[in-house]
Amino acid sequence: MTGPACRNCGTPNLETVLDFGDMPLANALLTSDQLDAPEPRYPLALAFCSTCYLAQITHVVAPELLFRDYAYFSSVSDAMVEHARLLVDRVARSRELGPDSLVVEIASNDGYLLQHYVNRGIPVLGIDPARNIAEAATARGIPTLAEFFGVEVAESLRAAGRTADVVHANNVLAHAPDIHGFLAGIATILKPAGIAVFETPYVRDLVDRLEFDTIYHEHVFYYSLSSIVELMSRHGLAVVDVERLAIHGGSLRVTVAHDGAATPAPAVAALLAEEERIGLRSVESFRGFADRVHALGDELTATLAGLKAEGKSIAAYGAAAKGAVLLNAFGIDAGTIDFVADRSPHKAGRFMPGVRIPVVSADRLAEARPDVCLLLTWNFADEILEQQAAYRAAGGRFLIPVPELRWA
Ligand code: ZN
Repeated sequence: MTGPACRNCGTPNLETVLDFGDMPLANALLTSDQLDAPEPRYPLALAFCSTCYLAQITHVVAPELLFRDYAYFSSVSDAMVEHARLLVDRVARSRELGPDSLVVEIASNDGYLLQHYVNRGIPVLGIDPARNIAEAATARGIPTLAEFFGVEVAESLRAAGRTADVVHANNVLAHAPDIHGFLAGIATILKPAGIAVFETPYVRDLVDRLEFDTIYHEHVFYYSLSSIVELMSRHGLAVVDVERLAIHGGSLRVTVAHDGAATPAPAVAALLAEEERIGLRSVESFRGFADRVHALGDELTATLAGLKAEGKSIAAYGAAAKGAVLLNAFGIDAGTIDFVADRSPHKAGRFMPGVRIPVVSADRLAEARPDVCLLLTWNFADEILEQQAAYRAAGGRFLIPVPELRWA
């Protein structure tokens, strides 16, 4: 069997390390009207390129087919806004930005990050494909272009004399199937001494913490620093600094400049050496990860089957994409889980993709009081356990599935 070619370096026949089969789109919650129609499903599998070290899914779904949950924009969390403020504070100072500078952010959302530059009198330009979001941001004083960023947009900005001292792109690298067009665009708008700052989930945390449920069609690429260095070099860009962040289950913040424009910080070589040492450049690490995912699935389904056999009622919490991945990957459906509780008013009344478990409001958990609640959004465990104190006080127990089964 021949595998796909690497979307970065073109190496043919990549090895698939983890295969979930055909899966529904993880964010595509269904309405009751949609229950009569079959859902589109697409292959979901993770492959690893031993040439450029980039982990990637094997089948890319066209961006226009992906369900995009724009409801998220209105709820950019306080923690994210504060995270952005601290970053802006540091960048504005270290780059000595002022009224003659320009900061560009790609996927700028409602301006949650750029607003902090605006507050300092530093000119900004947001770029975001969602027209309603771009208009709302512009109305708030954060000029935003409603465009998909790529070479074309970058060249027209450059032709208009709008090149950037700083480019920000958070949680974009993983989503851009046309990664080369994207990075060529960055190289085009970056001033000779400019920097681009990327934040993207770190594949090392995914592997170490068994975060397999962050693998879905919207996430095309899963980066190590080694793979980012290789990718950037194809566009005359070099990584000059790197930090590990706790945000989004573990991320990298990578600072990039034109090749030769700046001396890399010692952290870059140090982390590259660490990745080599722990095996992140080797397909073996990814095979081991896949084995652990399968073992977790076996243990979880056996545990749930045991509870059902004892007559226990089981619900779940968190109608997020990662929950849809876990339920579908392990075949846990409405025969096992009575409902999925969720705080978002936009989700209640819908159904989980694929497995079609009804989504209900978070209050239902304390009311219906199932014996066990499978916590799908384990990344917010502390917060949710606190919110659901009444359910727990009444004897309800949470089963947290990732990175290993534990009761709370
Ligand atoms: Zn490759």
